[in-house]
Amino acid sequence: ERRVYVFKKGSSAGRKEMKALLGGKGANLCEMAHLGLNVPPGFTITTKVCQAFYEAGGKLPAGVWEDVLAAVKEVEEAYGAKFADPADPLLFSVRSGAAVSMPGMMDTVLNLGLNDEVVEGLAKKRGERFAFDCYRRLLDMFGDVVLNIEHEKFEEQIHAVKEENGLKLDVELTGTHLREVVRRFKGVYEKEGKSLPNDPYEQMRLAINAVFGSWNTPRAVKYREINRIRGLLGTAVNVQSMVYGNLNDNSGTGVCFTRNPATGEKKLYGEYLQNAQGEDVVAGIRTPKDVSHMAENFAQAYEDLVANTTLLEKHMRDMQDCEFTVQDGVLFMLQTRNGKRTGPAALQVAVDMEGEGMVSKSEAVLMVEPRHLDQLLHPMFEGTGKSEYKTSVLGKGLPASPGAAVGRIVFTADEAEKWHAEGEKVILLRVETSPEDVGGMHAAEGILTARGGMTSHAAVVARGWGKPCVCGLDVLEVDYSAKTASLKGTLLREGDWLSLNGSTGEVLKGKQPVKAPELSGKLAVFMEWVDSFRKIGVYTNADTPADAAIARKNGAQGIGLVRTEHMFFATAERIAAVRRMIAAEELMEEGTSAADALASLKEFQREDFEGIFTAMDGLPVTIRLLDPPLHEFLPHEGTAELDALCDTLAKEMSGRSGQHMNAVRILKNKIHGLQEANPMLGLRGCRLGIRHPDITEMQAKAILEAAVNVSKKGIKPSPHIMVPLVGFEEELSHQIKVIRKAAEDVFKAAGATVDYKVGTMIEVPRGALRAGDLAHHAEFFSFGTNDLTQMTCGFSRDDAEAKFLPLYQREGILPADPFEELDTTGVGELIKIAVQRGREARPGLHLGICGEHGGDPKSIEFVSTLVDYVSCSPLRVPIARLAAAQAAI
Ligand code: ADP
Ligand code: MG
Ligand code: MG
Repeated sequence: ERRVYVFKKGSSAGRKEMKALLGGKGANLCEMAHLGLNVPPGFTITTKVCQAFYEAGGKLPAGVWEDVLAAVKEVEEAYGAKFADPADPLLFSVRSGAAVSMPGMMDTVLNLGLNDEVVEGLAKKRGERFAFDCYRRLLDMFGDVVLNIEHEKFEEQIHAVKEENGLKLDVELTGTHLREVVRRFKGVYEKEGKSLPNDPYEQMRLAINAVFGSWNTPRAVKYREINRIRGLLGTAVNVQSMVYGNLNDNSGTGVCFTRNPATGEKKLYGEYLQNAQGEDVVAGIRTPKDVSHMAENFAQAYEDLVANTTLLEKHMRDMQDCEFTVQDGVLFMLQTRNGKRTGPAALQVAVDMEGEGMVSKSEAVLMVEPRHLDQLLHPMFEGTGKSEYKTSVLGKGLPASPGAAVGRIVFTADEAEKWHAEGEKVILLRVETSPEDVGGMHAAEGILTARGGMTSHAAVVARGWGKPCVCGLDVLEVDYSAKTASLKGTLLREGDWLSLNGSTGEVLKGKQPVKAPELSGKLAVFMEWVDSFRKIGVYTNADTPADAAIARKNGAQGIGLVRTEHMFFATAERIAAVRRMIAAEELMEEGTSAADALASLKEFQREDFEGIFTAMDGLPVTIRLLDPPLHEFLPHEGTAELDALCDTLAKEMSGRSGQHMNAVRILKNKIHGLQEANPMLGLRGCRLGIRHPDITEMQAKAILEAAVNVSKKGIKPSPHIMVPLVGFEEELSHQIKVIRKAAEDVFKAAGATVDYKVGTMIEVPRGALRAGDLAHHAEFFSFGTNDLTQMTCGFSRDDAEAKFLPLYQREGILPADPFEELDTTGVGELIKIAVQRGREARPGLHLGICGEHGGDPKSIEFVSTLVDYVSCSPLRVPIARLAAAQAAI
C-alpha cells in the first residue's frame, strides 16, 4: 500500500477523487500536476499515516521515513537541486491538508532546509536579502508551529529592528537588517531553551510530526465540532519544493477565486502582493493589490493564471479558490479547491454554470448547500435607500460576507461566547481575527475587523458560515484595554448596539430594522429544478393562518402539524377560557359543567381552523389534539397570580354552587393535584383526551364544523385529525370512537359532510413497536421525532442540552445532538420498524415526520426513503425541499 504520493509537473499517481486519503490539498496538487500545470514538485503523506501516527502514540510508523527519503530523491531530480546542498539548496514547505478544508486550522512551515551554512550558500546564489528573508521566516514558523514558541516573540524582535532603523514595512529591510533579525530570532530560541535542528532532514521529520500533531489541537477540534466534520482519518502532510514570491519585485504571491465568492459574479477575483511569501497576503501586513492589476506587474504570469484557473474551473466543474506564486515572472500553482461562498454566490454560480453548460441541472442542485439557502432566506436591512438608513452609516469597510447583523459590541472572542451563552446577540469587533477566535466568531451575529482584505481570516471563515462580516475598516481605531473603539469620531463601547451590512460593507449605529427575503427571480427558477428531483413531500408546522400562508409561499404542500395548544395561548381571552375549562372540569363532580367554557373555546378554535383551511385550500392539514399537561396553562403554585385566578374562577363557579370559599379550596386542591413529578411522561397527549373525552369531542367538532363551513364557500378542506402520544391500540381506538361520534353529530347538524382522516403520532417507543396494531385504526402516521428521541434515548429534551449533551459530543459518545440530527441507528431503527409494520397492516398508509428533524438536512436524507413527507417550520420549507431533492439525486 502506497503511503507517499509524489507529484511533479505532468505526472502523479494521485487524483482529485482521492481526498479521503490525500486530503483536499494533496489530492488537488496531484491532479494539477497530472494535468500538466506548473506545480512545484513534492509529495503527499497519506491520512492513513496520520491515523497510524496516533495509534503509535505520536510517532511516524515504521517504514514511512524511508518512503519520505525516496520521495525527496525523486523531487530533487524533478527540481534540479538538492535538499541540504549549500551550493544550490532545494528548500521545502511542509503543509497540512485534511479531506475537508479547514481554513487556518493547521499550520504550514516554509523554507525548510536552511541552517547557518545553507543560508550562506543560498545568499551567494540568490542574494543576501532574499536568503535571510527566507531564514527568518523559517525560524519564525518552525518556532511557532513545531516548537511552540509564540509567534509574538518573533514579531517583537522584527518590529524592534524596523523601529531602530526607521522602517515601516518588512520589504524595506535590507540583507544586513535581516541578518540582524535572524540573530535576534536565534536569541529568542536560546531564551526558550530551544533550537532549530541543524540537520535539514531532522527539520523535515519534526515538521511532519508537528503537522500530524496539529490535527488534534484544541482549535482544530473546535472547528470540526462547530462544522460537524467527522469520520476523517486525519490530516495528510504535503511536502513541497519551495518557489519564491519573495525573490525580488518580479515575484509575488496571491490568492484568487474564479468567480466572486460573495456575489457569484463571473470574473477572476483575488489579491496579490509583490515581493512577498506565503501568508503575507492574508495576514494583512501590507494591503494587497487587486488581481486585475497583475498584468501590469507580471504580464505572462497573469495570462497563465487566467488560463490555468479557467481550465481548473472547467475540469473541477465548480468555482475554484486558488493559491499561486510568481517567481521571477513565472507562475506556479500551489493550491486549488472548490471555493467557499455565500448563499447568494452559491445560487448565482449554480444557475450560471448550468446556463454555461458546465454542469447539469441535477449537479447545479447539488452545488447549493442547504445552509446557503438558509442564508438567502435570512433577513436583510429594511429601507437601505432611505435617509434614516443612510444617516446611520458610521463607516464603510469591505463587504466580506453578506447579510444583516445586529448585535451588541464585544471586543474578544471569549466575551462573544460568554455573552452569547447568556442569550445576548453580539457583534465581534476586532483589529483582525485569528484561528483562536473561531469559537467567538461563531457565537457572534456578525464580525467587524479594522484590518485585512477580502481573503483575510475573518472574511474566509465568516463566508464559510454565512455570517455577515465587514472587514478592513481601517479608520476604526480599537482600544482593547479600554474596551472601546472610535469610528470617525463616534465612540463605540462594549455593549453598544451596532448593525453590520455585510453586503455593502456599511457599519451602522444602533439596531437597524431588518426584513424577510423573498423567493423570486433566479431563486424561484432554482427551486423549480429542486422540485423536479424531489421524491417526498414537504409540509409545514404551522398554527396560524399567517404562518400557513408564509409556508405555502415557500412551497409547503400541506400542514404536517398544527399544535392546537398554541392556539390556546394566543390571547388573554383564550387562556382565560382554557383555565375556566380546567376549573370546570375539576369542579364537575361538585355539580358544575364544563360545557360553557368548552363552548367558548370551540368558537375560537373553529375560527382558527377556518382560517387555516382557507390558507391551505386543497392541501392536507394535520391537526394534533391537545397534547401538553393541563397545568402548563396555569400559573405556578404558591404564586399570587394563582390565588387571584382561583378567586376569580371560584366566583364564576359559585354563581352556581353559592359556596365561594369552598370552591376556592376545592380548586386549589385540584390544581395541586394536577402537579406531576414527571409531567412529560404524565397526563398528556391521548391520556388527557381519555381522561377528558369532552375536550377531544370539542376539538373534533371545532375542526369539522370549520371544514363544513369553508367547504360551503367553495374551499376544499382536508382535515387530518391526529391523536398524540399513543402507545396502545386501545388508547387510539378509544379516541377515534369519540372523534367519529363528534363527526356524525356535526355532519347531521350541518346536513353536509366533508372528507377527513384520523391518524396517530408515533412518538412513544411502544407505539412504534406496535405500529401494526395502530395501523388497523390509523389512516396515517406522523413521527413525532422530538418525543420519540426523548423516550427512546431516555434524554429529557428540556435538560439534556444543559446537562450533558455537549459533554457527550466532546467525549465522542454522541456524534451530534440527537434533538437536532436524528439518531439514525437508534431512533431511526424504531422508525424503520414502525414504517414496515404499519405498511404491512395497511398498505398505502400515509407517513410523515413532524419533529424538529423535519427541517434538518441530514435527518431528511435518512427518512427520505422511509416516509411520504417531512414537515418543518415555515421558513425552513425551502431548505427541506432542497435537502429532499439532494437526497433523491
Ligand atoms: P493553508 O492551508 O493555511 O492555506 P498552505 O499549506 O496552503 O496553508 O500554505 C500557506 C501558504 O504558504 C500558501 O498559500 C503559499 O502561499 C505558501 N506556500 C506553501 N507551500 C509553498 C511552496 N512550496 N512554495 C511557495 N509557497 C508556498
Ligand atoms: Mg494558513
Ligand atoms: Mg492554502
